[in-house]
Amino acid sequence: MAAVTHIGNAESLRFSVKWAEPADGDAESRTRGAATLEVGGHVVWGSPDEPFEWTWIELLEFLAESWRFLLWEETYPEGLAPRNPLVLEDAFETRREDMHPAAAAALHEDVVSFVEHHDMASALRGAIAPPIRILREGLSCSLTTRFGTTTLPFEDVTQALESIASALLTRLDGAEDPRSVRAIADWEQRASVTEKFLLEFAASLPSSHWSTLRGRLPDDPGGWGQLEVFAAARMAGSLLDTTSFEKLLASIESVPHSQTGKLDALSRKAQEHLRPRDRAFLEGYATARAMRPELGHVDEQGCIDIEAILASLDVTVSDVDLKTDSLDAIAVFGPKHGPAVLVNSSGVHSKGPRGRRTTLAHELCHLLLDRDSSLPLVEVLGGRLPRRPEQRANAFAAELLVPSHEVVAATRKESPTTLGDWEALVEAIGRRFKASRAVAAWQTLNANAADGESLAPSVRSRLESLTRDS
Ligand SMILES: [Zn+2]
Repeated sequence: MAAVTHIGNAESLRFSVKWAEPADGDAESRTRGAATLEVGGHVVWGSPDEPFEWTWIELLEFLAESWRFLLWEETYPEGLAPRNPLVLEDAFETRREDMHPAAAAALHEDVVSFVEHHDMASALRGAIAPPIRILREGLSCSLTTRFGTTTLPFEDVTQALESIASALLTRLDGAEDPRSVRAIADWEQRASVTEKFLLEFAASLPSSHWSTLRGRLPDDPGGWGQLEVFAAARMAGSLLDTTSFEKLLASIESVPHSQTGKLDALSRKAQEHLRPRDRAFLEGYATARAMRPELGHVDEQGCIDIEAILASLDVTVSDVDLKTDSLDAIAVFGPKHGPAVLVNSSGVHSKGPRGRRTTLAHELCHLLLDRDSSLPLVEVLGGRLPRRPEQRANAFAAELLVPSHEVVAATRKESPTTLGDWEALVEAIGRRFKASRAVAAWQTLNANAADGESLAPSVRSRLESLTRDS
């Protein structure tokens, strides 16, 4: 009786298979087997007692076809930000209600294509398997199943998938049937990308932008993934007109590369304080609390000087007018340019002095926590980005500017009762910490909730409405 072959690691990704027959005949018969697939320590497909019997050639075909999407498609279809990849379709259904039918139909196609290429369950034609959705975030990668999300280094995921493919290729060794021959050839070509592919799936830029960007890129598309201008174009391109897009690229190129010793040392400390939690905003809060004393530059009121903090870390801050309010800033920290923050002087938040502070504190969080993982090159505040690091950076910025314990102390001191009292408290907190009304209201709401205060529904709803002010 054939033995079970284990490929990969159960804590990350493991495919365990007992091949049904000797490796001969066509693609189907050579790859038939009873298998289980484990992700993050959970058996997702099959079970040890009842493994999943299938012709696994389909998994090889899926990997060959999807490889470049797994490599390059790091964001959800335009405008969708589901809580996690398993509810992408729900996010689309909610959104389509507000859309023109033609636009909804086009977006639906993108959603179908996304699922087709990022869900391992799509590999199995004619069988229904539980979803395993793979989404790259920079140097990290998330694998989401019904048991939750496992985040791993992207390289570990590609290695695990390559090992599975390699086991299947071994089964096809010497096969001459057309399906085997095609699968082997497709696998060899899995990573090759054309300009058209990158334009469509990695950059999704209007064609006028594409020509602006193309002139700044080397000939071989294979290296574009390591370029700051390409990364910025992916995140921000669709939000800018041609002139502003060109200005953004030129601004990034004008940023020199500078040493990051001080920032790296502080990043290591911030990473040490980072305890992975369920909710991204709790990570942001905890990191801000731990790092505030390390960062210094606090006046006697408890108000931080964020510009001085960034200067002390050799992070350049400069202004650029991108003529749109939808982006607040671009942080650049790749191998060729940065670290720097380019603040958009027309940004809905960044155009005012207090919103500018929030913007810079938000970028500081990315500089401390995300350069080695989800955002290795640039980040665009307002652009197309993974949701989790954004939530974390927003919470970090709020807590760094306006510490919760100070808000609780101020609330107890003032003991507000009327809605007017609460508004005055938010105003006073905003003045003292030079924070926008939105951030002051947000912190007042959360700090009092965390302190066990049950806020009257009218107070809660007034504070919530203040958090929506820019
Ligand atoms: Zn951000």
